[in-house]
Amino acid sequence: MTVAHPQSVDAPRVDDTGSSRVPGLPHVPDTVPTSRRPAAPLTVTVTPSALAAYGQCPLYFQQVYRTQDHSANRAIQRGQYVHRLADTYTKSVIDGRALSVDAVLSRVPVPAAYQDGADEERAILDSGREALIGYISWLDAQEFAQIISSEQYIRTPRRAVRNVPGAEVVFSGRADLMCLDKTGMLVVADLKATSVAGPDELLASPSSWVYRHLAAFAHMVEDIEIVQIVPTTGQSTRARLGSEQIEAGATLVRAMCRAAVEGQYPPTVGQYCSYCDYVDRCPAHSSRPGMTTAVF
Ligand code: SF4
Repeated sequence: MTVAHPQSVDAPRVDDTGSSRVPGLPHVPDTVPTSRRPAAPLTVTVTPSALAAYGQCPLYFQQVYRTQDHSANRAIQRGQYVHRLADTYTKSVIDGRALSVDAVLSRVPVPAAYQDGADEERAILDSGREALIGYISWLDAQEFAQIISSEQYIRTPRRAVRNVPGAEVVFSGRADLMCLDKTGMLVVADLKATSVAGPDELLASPSSWVYRHLAAFAHMVEDIEIVQIVPTTGQSTRARLGSEQIEAGATLVRAMCRAAVEGQYPPTVGQYCSYCDYVDRCPAHSSRPGMTTAVF
């Protein structure tokens, strides 16, 4: 039997365009045209509110978080205003010079969407004052051993997603408040506008999962509690995610990344429909009187 010596195979030659050729085989250029190159991975940014929205309705998520500018949304601006008030106060506490309620209110401008009319401006100032007073009372009552940060922005490096080729994921978000309690437990607080979830709901909440993931990344600890609070009422719920909830959150993240790669965002009727800006155009509601069947 004759065994071909490797050296009997003609070595590839490099032509004057830089391409290599093997005699007897069709010419294959070294440089693949741009259109045939493997596509770069799609980066999916997962924030607490985006994952919560995706978990409720993929189409709502796609409209609000992937295509629309919602900076003019009044409800979002109102929520941001309360967050800024709480942040201004908390940072003054961290600096050791706690500001008064009036000093905080004077430093945080009223959102643009509420600056049109004097009545609206007065109303949001009053509700901001109420929320701030409630927040300060809640914070005092917790007797945290240490306030670590307020409105800390956290962003993880890009990572491949298991079982979702073509996607990379980045987690990002602002933790409203991070503290150590008397036992040394890291507590991540999420300020809510109107109501808090019940304990079971908070455990299953996608946003709890993302806050926990971000806090674990930032502080390299696993024991983390999530607390939701409504500053105006002082209502709060506290929970620590177990392995079941952690796995469920990871599964949802993978589904969100797969949806982004495949461009599939089915509407899911649920609690988000009651304040969804797209209900008039939503295929899931097209049979309602006066609704159009047009897809976005
Ligand atoms: S109306 Fe409901 S089902 Fe349709 S996009 Fe909005 S949240 Fe989703």
